[in-house]
Amino acid sequence: MSEDELLHELQSVIDAIAAPVFYKDRAGVYRGCNKAFEKYLGRPRADIVGTTVYDVAPRDLADTYRDADEALFRQGGVQVYEAKVRTGDGSRRDVVFYKALFHGRHGRVSGLVGTILDITERKEAERALEHQAFHDSLTGLPNRALFMDRLEVALGAARRRNDRLAVAYVDVDRFKIVNDTLGHAAGDDLLREVGRRLTAACRESETIARIGADEFAVLFPSVADGPAAVAEGNRLALALRPELGIAGRDLHMTASVGVALFPEDGQDAESLLRCADHAMYRAKQGGRNHVVLFSPADRDASRLELETCLHRALERGELSLRYQPQVDLRTGRVTAAEALLRWDHPRLGAVMPDRFIPVAEETGLIIPIGAWVLTEACRQAVGWREAGSPLRVAVNVSALQFHRNDFAELVAAALHDTGLEPGGLELELTESTVVRELERTSRQMQRLRDLGVRLTVDDFGTGYSSLRYLQRLPIGALKIDRSFAPNPEEACGERVLLAQAIIALAHGLRLEVIAEGIETDEQLALLRRFECDAAQGFVLGHPVVGGELLRRGEAAPTPDPE
Ligand code: C2E
Ligand code: CA
Ligand code: CA
Repeated sequence: MSEDELLHELQSVIDAIAAPVFYKDRAGVYRGCNKAFEKYLGRPRADIVGTTVYDVAPRDLADTYRDADEALFRQGGVQVYEAKVRTGDGSRRDVVFYKALFHGRHGRVSGLVGTILDITERKEAERALEHQAFHDSLTGLPNRALFMDRLEVALGAARRRNDRLAVAYVDVDRFKIVNDTLGHAAGDDLLREVGRRLTAACRESETIARIGADEFAVLFPSVADGPAAVAEGNRLALALRPELGIAGRDLHMTASVGVALFPEDGQDAESLLRCADHAMYRAKQGGRNHVVLFSPADRDASRLELETCLHRALERGELSLRYQPQVDLRTGRVTAAEALLRWDHPRLGAVMPDRFIPVAEETGLIIPIGAWVLTEACRQAVGWREAGSPLRVAVNVSALQFHRNDFAELVAAALHDTGLEPGGLELELTESTVVRELERTSRQMQRLRDLGVRLTVDDFGTGYSSLRYLQRLPIGALKIDRSFAPNPEEACGERVLLAQAIIALAHGLRLEVIAEGIETDEQLALLRRFECDAAQGFVLGHPVVGGELLRRGEAAPTPDPE
């Protein structure tokens, strides 16, 4: 074959490749390319061969290509990197370059050959996903997660600068009425308009987020003092005031705004937002369209509100249970699940138990709520049995419930009404519940034991009970508090030693041990080594609805957000 024929054959080989292909000499001059490359750049081969990247690409891109080429000539091997390419229609696309050196007859490097993989669609999908995870789809604004993220960053900066920042909590007044009377579409329109107006009223540096159904938050990264923060809040309230037409009506929209200041009102993102939320409640109580700066008394006011809402939560069906798997560490199987209470309030949103259980306990509401939890959990356990999985259900019991005289009867009734066998129920009592009034506690526990239910001491390690003391009580298991979850990084640390000691001592007393709050495989491995009986935690499974648990009950459970 002549040189000419050889060249022709080589060209038709690379033209047959669907991906863009090019090759250059050592000086970075294009020596050839295929049809796909011509098409990609939108220029004929004759305009490419003999030129350099600076002739075919804009300067900023050409610089990166040249730097990459030089690195490849220096280092050899194969080069893969992501970059942008300007195509024939002028648009910039995301690509991956694959480049490698090629050698001449005597083994000397004579140039490089590269191909392009267009990943624009993949990149766009990634960006869309990321956007979705951090933005509210209705308004396009950042969501709570992104807001908290930005707030953390702003807090760090304010701390370094010794500066103040403010957070405003904006709640649209009477949103529920609009939503209920004019319909959801009108409600959505209203929220979108709120988002637009807040955005228009704010500066570039301020973050506006939708953090609840009709709740927005604004971050002011630098404010002079309290009055200045209130002025910012007023600016927001004012921006929402103009009449707006929705569903063929002229509406007068107002909002209640609560403002909290760093460093006066809170040190971290969560507590600052909560303070702003508390202040917002007082703003609401003061009538519509108020702006209020947080004061410590607001905590009590919003607590009252929580109490009022909690009174109705049960009858309105706002309470539900999630179940978190407990895994036998010898077999790896799910043998039980802990029932965890959830409260979804139409306006307050999802309220976590750490916030509302204390209120329920202080108001006595925990009695009816606890009774509901007990029956509901037993009913779920029967459901699991009907589906062929005889998991035990563990129910948290507050001191107030446990110390009532009729508690054992209540448990008996729940078992009877649902048809759950007593062995299918486990009651978790905190250490402090158990330690109180030992005589009475012991009698109450005996009654429950006689029914055949299993008793576990929850949050063990946080109270004052010694193990010897527990020996006198009819307890089946100890649940080591999550603050003791062993951390392999501190392998000889206090926590690890304590966890190991508790397990060994408990076994000496013939008590089973379960570890909670287990988040990593390393922790699991340590627990297995210590011969801990069972474990519960995010690494084994998050709390999920009852039906969900079974689908993964028999397989090795995988972490999966709620
Ligand atoms: P608890 O009894 O110690 O429940 C375990 C808590 O730890 C749950 O929080 C659970 O979601 C969380 N958790 C589970 N795995 C992990 C993990 O790997 N890492 C971390 N950091 N946390 C984990 P939750 O559901 O917010 O419950 C908080 C507390 O509220 C419970 O603590 C319990 O004391 C109380 N509670 C929940 N439901 C009820 C109920 O029905 N009745 C009563 N009286 N109290 C309840
Ligand atoms: Ca518990
Ligand atoms: Ca616990």
